Amino acid sequence: MTRSSPRHDVIIVGAGIAGMACALALASRGVRPLVLETRKKLGGRATSFTDVRSAEVLDNCQHVALGCCTNFLDFLGSIGTASALTWYDDQYWFEPGGRMSIITANGLGRLSPAPGHYAASLLRATFLTLGEKVILSRGILDILSTDRSRWRDRTFELFLRTSGQTDRLISRFWEPVIASACNLPCNRVAASSALHVFQEGFLAHRRSASIGIPSIPLVELYRNLPTLLESRGGEIRLGCSVDQLTTTSVTLSRTGETLHAPAVISAVPFPSALQIIDPTIQAADARFAAMRTFGTSPILGVHLRFDRPVLRTPHAVLVDQPTQWLFSAPGHTDGRAVHAVISAADAWLQLSEEQVASQILTDIRRCMPWAAQARLLSCRPVKEKLATIAPTPEMEAHRPAATAGPGSLILAGDYTDTGWPSTMEGAVRSGRIAAAAFLGLSPESLLSPSLAPGLLTLALGLRPPSDSTSPGYRGILPAQPALAS
Ligand SMILES: Cc1cc2nc3c(=O)[nH]c(=O)nc-3n(C[C@H](O)[C@H](O)[C@H](O)COP(=O)(O)OP(=O)(O)OC[C@H]3O[C@@H](n4cnc5c(N)ncnc54)[C@H](O)[C@@H]3O)c2cc1C
Repeated sequence: MTRSSPRHDVIIVGAGIAGMACALALASRGVRPLVLETRKKLGGRATSFTDVRSAEVLDNCQHVALGCCTNFLDFLGSIGTASALTWYDDQYWFEPGGRMSIITANGLGRLSPAPGHYAASLLRATFLTLGEKVILSRGILDILSTDRSRWRDRTFELFLRTSGQTDRLISRFWEPVIASACNLPCNRVAASSALHVFQEGFLAHRRSASIGIPSIPLVELYRNLPTLLESRGGEIRLGCSVDQLTTTSVTLSRTGETLHAPAVISAVPFPSALQIIDPTIQAADARFAAMRTFGTSPILGVHLRFDRPVLRTPHAVLVDQPTQWLFSAPGHTDGRAVHAVISAADAWLQLSEEQVASQILTDIRRCMPWAAQARLLSCRPVKEKLATIAPTPEMEAHRPAATAGPGSLILAGDYTDTGWPSTMEGAVRSGRIAAAAFLGLSPESLLSPSLAPGLLTLALGLRPPSDSTSPGYRGILPAQPALAS
């Protein structure tokens, strides 16, 4: 059966963050979107599930936002759930033996403008030697003055070596930050992607790296979206899988029904896009040949319950350990419910549940000796094999634009060329850029402004990348330095 969808101006396939952000941006401008989502819930890779063992609602993995994620925060604001994020200015780094260093822009850091806001706490940190701190500051100055678009074709490790960074500094400092932000280790990730994280995520503004952690299950963040869209003439259909997609039609899996609309936007991950987008469209559009070469990188999230308090801070970095980050589970503050996150988790995929539990326990006990007697009551690993794109130098240069010109299929999703790593911020940006393409507007007309870099940051060399015609790169705007930074 084939029919048009007269109530709708556009069909969006996929109700992850990109599809939702695209739909909301369009509905807010009088366009009536129909969103089709194969699962029976919203959120895609940033969602929750009910655990059959405990009947608890758990997130597939802890998701954190940073202060620099201005589009994601604006998206949550527009659906009324921005206040569900709890903000932390302090990062707690635990070394083997149990010493803790707090990296913070507070305390003495308040006296220093960006990008020096972490200098005082880094100087006091015990997990690096004084000599390493000197080398680290050279690395930071080099990051500030580097045009990241010139480093798309080389790895971040090469950049770090060029800047004199040592093996120990890489494994103790650079690796935990980059693996969690880009989901690849320093020796695989494109330097441009890692430089972006440090330039915009840490150095540009004193609030850039504040950590926002949802205090409710991820799926609850989107609870107001369906009614909001409906009130503006839009609609979301859950449990509705698309088999085939053209620029003006979609064919549904279960019924074989074909729906027509003036335009269709693909907001599914790139492997699904390659499966469902009409082969004749793919053959005529160079974006798809490049997408066939893309790789993915896994993330492991592990829900742990202990018989006594283990985690004494809201979150923790375990210095130089396979287990990278620990978080207090949402709604729990007693340190017994802990969520462990391992990014770039290739080495963990083959491990059994018992092996995962044993490795994490070893890492926790090494850095938190008070947990030596703690008994693990339950361990629920969630392995996301296709968690994010693998932003290697080979891939970064070929991330597809939202359109390939007038009449071409519009693509949204965290894999598209937003300039951002595969994150919730990247997904919202991609959705808004796709909406702008549909409306014939410039991307920045729908993007929230980035946190403007401070005057000292600019004086030390931070500049927009020279290929800043790419929508995702329109972040650093020297024309409006932040007086308040
Ligand atoms: C384990 C893990 C941890 C992460 N941690 C963080 C973090 O801490 N911070 C952060 O910012 N980001 C994090 N991310 C990344 C973030 O989750 C993603 O970048 C973002 O959610 C991607 O959104 P998207 O809309 O582009 O894609 P998706 O979320 O994949 O959405 C695509 C949607 O399309 C649907 N779909 C697919 N095929 C079809 C079809 N044929 N028909 C209909 N619907 C279809 C899917 O079901 C899905 O809902 C993490 C990701 C994972 C997996």
